[in-house]
Amino acid sequence: MEGGQQEATASKFTRICVFCGSSQGKKRSYQDAAIELGKELVSRNIDLVYGGGSVGLMGLVSQAVHDGGRHVTGVIPKTLMPREITGETVGEVKAVADMHQRKAEMARRSDAFIALPGGYGTLEELLEVITWAQLGIHDKPVGLLNVDGYYNSLLSFIDKAVEEGFISPNARHIILSAPTAKELMKKLEEYFPRHERVASKLNWEMEQLGYSKYEISR
Ligand code: AMP
Repeated sequence: MEGGQQEATASKFTRICVFCGSSQGKKRSYQDAAIELGKELVSRNIDLVYGGGSVGLMGLVSQAVHDGGRHVTGVIPKTLMPREITGETVGEVKAVADMHQRKAEMARRSDAFIALPGGYGTLEELLEVITWAQLGIHDKPVGLLNVDGYYNSLLSFIDKAVEEGFISPNARHIILSAPTAKELMKKLEEYFPRHERVASKLNWEMEQLGYSKYEISR
């Protein structure tokens, strides 16, 4: 490294979609992790796709990626666009009709997904992309940034679902997790899908799920 410049680590990803809380969470470690993840994406020359806005962890991760000079795309449903709801968005804003289109659009534009700590919105987005992977709609890696063990109980629940025969052991491998952005990125880079596909071809149109025109696999 010369002149104090951060040397970029080569990545197979161009754009990563981050799901995260519209709140900041009570612990400083959640906020630090959002900023750390943003910097990790920048160090690997990866652009960000996220839900838009500057609220909560969403604001912290997007600001960090934007400050590092990478492209940020915020995908916001028109109804959430008023500034008092989402705050000021950095980078490009893609307005969509509703929450369904937002998810499809975020998925279509990304090569992988990461969930930081968050609430109902984050969980819903995360579980939907896992389900899409299980069905063979996409083959993109999905990672949980398990900051301070925030997602331990969710991971235990998923293990319980495997034990009880509701999730196949191979489908358990869809979800990757690590305590730091660096470790998680390494796992995402090395991911190879092992689950059986329900859908016979990958290029499933979202139309089949009721999202006309939105294709999420590439
Ligand atoms: P939650 O985890 O419940 O805080 O929800 C976070 C997710 O829901 C984000 O990834 C967004 O997609 C969406 N979301 C919830 N609240 C907002 C908001 N005020 N502005 C933008 N997106 C939001």
